[in-house]
Amino acid sequence: MEKYPLCPNCVKPMTLARVIPGSVKLLSLNTFGCERCNVWLTEAVQYDLPAR
Ligand SMILES: [Zn+2]
Repeated sequence: MEKYPLCPNCVKPMTLARVIPGSVKLLSLNTFGCERCNVWLTEAVQYDLPAR
């Protein structure tokens, strides 16, 4: 279950447009977009994986 960020303009959940697996361990970049406002947002997401 993932939470999508809200558009700062229309305050509706943004669409997950793209996921870029990060080169850093346990990090990926998720790009969210709001098509009606043409607002784009990239978030670094850290996965909760047990350490060893
Ligand atoms: Zn919007």
